[in-house]
Amino acid sequence: MTANVLEIEGLTKRFGDFVAVGGVDLAIRRGSIHALIGPNGAGKTTCFNLLTKFLTPTSGTIRFDGRDITRSGPASIARMGLVRSFQISAVFNAMTALENVMLALQRKRGESYDFWTRRSVLARNRGEAAEHLDSVGIAHLADLPAGALSYGHRRALEIATTLALDPAVILLDEPTAGMGAEDVGRITRLIHDAARGRTVVMVEHNLGIVSEICDDVTVLSRGQILARGDYASVAVDERVVEAYLGG
Ligand code: ADP
Repeated sequence: MTANVLEIEGLTKRFGDFVAVGGVDLAIRRGSIHALIGPNGAGKTTCFNLLTKFLTPTSGTIRFDGRDITRSGPASIARMGLVRSFQISAVFNAMTALENVMLALQRKRGESYDFWTRRSVLARNRGEAAEHLDSVGIAHLADLPAGALSYGHRRALEIATTLALDPAVILLDEPTAGMGAEDVGRITRLIHDAARGRTVVMVEHNLGIVSEICDDVTVLSRGQILARGDYASVAVDERVVEAYLGG
């Protein structure tokens, strides 16, 4: 096993003449919680979309567990254990919270899913799905349609469906964006717990969260890496302070 679960070299993305991400080298340590931060327009989302394969790099390589995944698609890397959470499509509103997690378990196991087998296959995964809901504190909402959940509870459900897939790496794009303080606290703890035995890479604006749970921080500015290290060291880096204040 390599010490770094993800190794990114020379990652570049151009949109026409504009270089959104310009030659980024990044190593994500196995088992770490790694934050990508930086001012608006720094290239964080583009970088994240390159990592999650929503965008194809102009040049550069991405290795996951030593395998070159630069040209792999999102579904293919998800099967390898690199899962992007908080996609709208990850939760089906008309299904209950419990059914959503059961469906994730079923996908993980590659079980077939059609009208005729739905009931029997789903029933098999019920107990395990209930445990995942319990682990994110929403066991009491199991039978509500996902569409009826509050924003914070929905995010908790998304974490439960992600955990059901048992990924090696969880990729999170602004996991607490748009949340009130109480939900922010709850989701931060969930991410911290979800990271046990896994790696988490997240784009995060809330520096309080970054300082609380992230082991490694990469600061991007104008498509390049400005600084890297633990939060305490990058937070006092003059270039970082300047980029944020000037941002
Ligand atoms: P951040 O997430 O750090 O705010 P982004 O990755 O969204 O930054 O954007 C970085 C830069 O790339 C911005 O200047 C943005 O306008 C530009 N950009 C992002 N996506 C596109 C696109 N599809 N076409 C053209 N320019 C883009």
